[in-house]
Amino acid sequence: MRNPATGEIIGTLDEATPAEVQQVMAQARDASREWGETPVSTRIHYLRNLRHYLVENGEMLAQKISEVTGKVTLEAYMTEIFITADTIRFYEKQAERMLAPRKVATTLVLFPKRSWIHYQPMGVVAVISPWNYPFQLSVVPVLSALAAGNAVILKPSEVTPSIGLLIEELFQAVPAPKHLVQVLHGGREVGQALVAARPDKIFFTGSVATGKKIMTQAAEHLIPVELELGGKDPMIVLEDAHLERAANGAVWGAFTNAGQVCMSVERVYVHERVYPQFLQLVKEKTAALRQGFPAESELGSMTSPEQIRIVREHVQEALAKGAVAEWGGHFPENSMFLAPTILTGVTHDMKIMREETFGPVLPIMRVASEEEAIRLANDTPYGLNASVWSMDKARAKRVAQKLQSGNVCINDVVVSYANPHLPFGGVKESGIGRYRGPEGLQSFTHAVSIIHDPGKRKREINWYPYTGEQHALFVSLTKTLFGKNKKQGNLWSPRNWKGFWREWKRLY
Ligand code: NAD
Repeated sequence: MRNPATGEIIGTLDEATPAEVQQVMAQARDASREWGETPVSTRIHYLRNLRHYLVENGEMLAQKISEVTGKVTLEAYMTEIFITADTIRFYEKQAERMLAPRKVATTLVLFPKRSWIHYQPMGVVAVISPWNYPFQLSVVPVLSALAAGNAVILKPSEVTPSIGLLIEELFQAVPAPKHLVQVLHGGREVGQALVAARPDKIFFTGSVATGKKIMTQAAEHLIPVELELGGKDPMIVLEDAHLERAANGAVWGAFTNAGQVCMSVERVYVHERVYPQFLQLVKEKTAALRQGFPAESELGSMTSPEQIRIVREHVQEALAKGAVAEWGGHFPENSMFLAPTILTGVTHDMKIMREETFGPVLPIMRVASEEEAIRLANDTPYGLNASVWSMDKARAKRVAQKLQSGNVCINDVVVSYANPHLPFGGVKESGIGRYRGPEGLQSFTHAVSIIHDPGKRKREINWYPYTGEQHALFVSLTKTLFGKNKKQGNLWSPRNWKGFWREWKRLY
């Protein structure tokens, strides 16, 4: 295990063997039975204890996350600790309601039945997580699965193994039923072994390529998967935007966490009327950024050397094809610190505008109209987040609704994830499924449809024996309920209706 900013070795860790993965799965199965029967209020009580531990130890945890990832300590605190505590609070307030049986209407012909949905825990949920927010993107899905009544096996990223250890310590520090949350350390092979051990659901956050592999492997046993994948998020700045706010948003949205954010601003489309002013503002604000590690800077280091290779490749290809580095653009060898980079003269023939860069790079394109901005924003295989900047509420809303994206911010960036009431997830290659919000919590359950009949009648209208009267009744009913001319159905008058019911009751 290394400190990415300094390269210093900070410990060693053994990877789980296939036999250990099997054993962990068996233990999780046992734990899931009792936890699934535990009332939601008791589960939430456990989450509350976790929140207290998290808040008491938050600064220490953020410090450790910062050391391991190279991210600025304040960012580690805000995005890993605060968001996790906020999510727990949300579950404390809302989980019982969101998981309570939900009554739904029952159609007239099914009278006197009653219907409801029961949210049944799935069993064992496997959470496989990435390195860019290694704490929060592990712990929040784990908490969601727990609140919904499942046992969890977490496989954190091998790029940040000590955060996996930290999370294991967190779950050991707060008393819980044995084996309720288990952590498997290791890389791809351990992830594959976990999928092969047949969990009841896989919650995966990571790259598109890995997401596809996991889905393929899961398909063999029809294991439900939820995939939170990469993005190439567009930002559209219209001519009536608050330019200073938009420039601040662009700089923060592109460079926060050194751009290693699935919802980073990865492409900007600016209306030609405000393009020069916007570019000037963005350059000024970038020039004011301090880069360093850890305490008093805005920009930390990159976390993964492999990601640096990708960022460098994208920037070099863009420059070779005619892009202009308005700021930065040259990355020294053997440094984990990449200077924030602003590119102009970019086109959709360049990787920098098409593939996920995941680094501190802000490519900006001039557009002639709102329509052109929408067309270019949608010209991507991804669809995670997007932003629209305009002071005209109706216009911004119109543009937002035309974007092919799982989440859209108006006059803001990235923030979608911060509201736990909102479902979060991608469209196109950015993923499948939604977590957060009621849908997100319920997605860790089987929504079991229950329909209840009082059970007092000896048979139903559609049961055996089939008779001519039964046939006539169904034809009449169909014409009355669904036909163009309801009078053909003979049941439109109250008298006929009464007769129909008499006949219905006589037969059934
Ligand atoms: P990755 O796909 O390389 O790895 C993610 C996890 O999958 C790791 O724990 C890894 O060990 C495991 N893994 C790798 N191969 C596996 C396999 N065949 N079977 C099972 N597990 C396997 O992703 P990464 O580089 O760690 O993370 C960066 C990516 O994550 C970026 O693309 C980023 O956009 C995406 N991401 C998405 C979201 C979101 O919410 N949509 C959030 C953060 C990051």
